[in-house]
Amino acid sequence: MGETKRNIAVLGSTGSIGRQTLDIIAEYPDLFNAWLLVARSSADLLIQQARQMRPHMVIIADEQYYEYVRDALEDTDIEVATGSAAIAQAVTAPEVDTVVTAMVGYSGLESTIAAIGAGKRIALANKETLVVAGELIDRLLRDSAGSVLYPVDSEHGAFYQCLVGERMEDVEKLWLTASGGPFRTVPRERLETVTAADALKHPNWSMGAKITIDSATMMNKGFEMIEARWLFGIMPDDIEIVVHPQSIIHSMVAFKDGSVKAQLGLPDMHLPIRYALGLPDGRLASDCRKMTIENMANLTLERPDFDKFPLLGTAYEAARRGGTAPCVMNAANEIAVAAFLQDKIKFTDIYRIIEQTMAQAPHVAHPTHEDYVASNADARARAASMLAAQAV
Ligand code: MG
Repeated sequence: MGETKRNIAVLGSTGSIGRQTLDIIAEYPDLFNAWLLVARSSADLLIQQARQMRPHMVIIADEQYYEYVRDALEDTDIEVATGSAAIAQAVTAPEVDTVVTAMVGYSGLESTIAAIGAGKRIALANKETLVVAGELIDRLLRDSAGSVLYPVDSEHGAFYQCLVGERMEDVEKLWLTASGGPFRTVPRERLETVTAADALKHPNWSMGAKITIDSATMMNKGFEMIEARWLFGIMPDDIEIVVHPQSIIHSMVAFKDGSVKAQLGLPDMHLPIRYALGLPDGRLASDCRKMTIENMANLTLERPDFDKFPLLGTAYEAARRGGTAPCVMNAANEIAVAAFLQDKIKFTDIYRIIEQTMAQAPHVAHPTHEDYVASNADARARAASMLAAQAV
């Protein structure tokens, strides 16, 4: 580690990953400094975090809370701004070393593109960025002035760790582990009647509402397959999903010589965040809870049920098709999940809305940034009008 602290921009600081990132920054005050905190609308928590972490700047994305946040921090020297243009600009500031992208959904794309353009080190927690625009991000990274992408997702952190010191041409496939979510053992017929409250009871991981629903439908695992495809340059069909209910094995890499490497750890997002922030220098020692033999004594693996969780198949189809197909899938999913969280649609309607939107939306094979913006808006509008047409 260099002699100066790394200044970190935390986008989505009030969300689950953002809060845990601030824990890690606070755990290593000699290494890290929270320079910028960005929240969408959780004004009170943002104010509280600003008072604790003393960043250079905070941005509240939703403009209606701007004055409230500004007034609350008036007695400090913390700069306060609002709006998405301010975020994209702030991440490019020369003081910023690392950008942690932990905002929810498509909204993460713009600022990630800006950070890559400015050559920043990026700890990627917003998987939708790679799902929506993996091809574009891949291109931008190749052309960038030294920007690197380190995964924060636990599975991708596992792949990264298994691949250290290996050659990609020796890799046969990636085994992406999935907990199976809250409905792994629920019979398929019951999925018609499960509620948002049922889906929010995740067995192992404590996460935000959106990703918890994505985990219940297993869309999250489909997203992670696409995320892995771009992070590691692996074809979708060389990534196999394996259900591992204990969430101790975070993922595995199978090599052409028959060897398999796995990365294990307790299901706690602080671990992959700590690993990502330590890169490329090395691991950060911690007093965190450590694994015991008992934690590893009963590990099981099973094949996923593609009939019960059809969005797994949908994600492979979208990944193989490429272009704007994953962007359309993501946009429809965001609309459908929001409606399900408000109890407006059934759990199984989430798949129907996504499949119908994907069947109808126009396709662009090699999209530019503008194509993604248009495709996202078009797919959202289609999904929203499907919802309106069947609204109760
Ligand atoms: Mg994950």
